[in-house]
Amino acid sequence: MKTQTNIDTSAEGRRVLEQLRQLGPFLPASMTTTRKKCGNPNCRCAGQGPMHETTLLTWKEGATTRTLHVPREMRDEVAAWIAEWRKLKSLIEKMGDAQRQFLKTRRESTKRSSPSS
Ligand SMILES: [Zn+2]
Repeated sequence: MKTQTNIDTSAEGRRVLEQLRQLGPFLPASMTTTRKKCGNPNCRCAGQGPMHETTLLTWKEGATTRTLHVPREMRDEVAAWIAEWRKLKSLIEKMGDAQRQFLKTRRESTKRSSPSS
């Protein structure tokens, strides 16, 4: 990674970079849990017992939506990865705003300081 200078980014941009460094593992996907009966008439789910919970991870690959089963013991961890992904997405947005703003400010200050010849 190259050295940060004042010319690279705005103060806001540097704050975003700092937050980026603190991110944990992230996963661009969403997770849904559904409850359903398995169809076995002798199963607990056919009577009073709780229905079966299935947790699925879904994400897009191009135009295709992919799914993957998430084991019960992994749910909390996967949820944390997805939360980090949301943070990353908002940091990307913030960085975009900061850099565009920075560019605008620089253009304006260049215009002001250069004599029109
Ligand atoms: Zn069942």
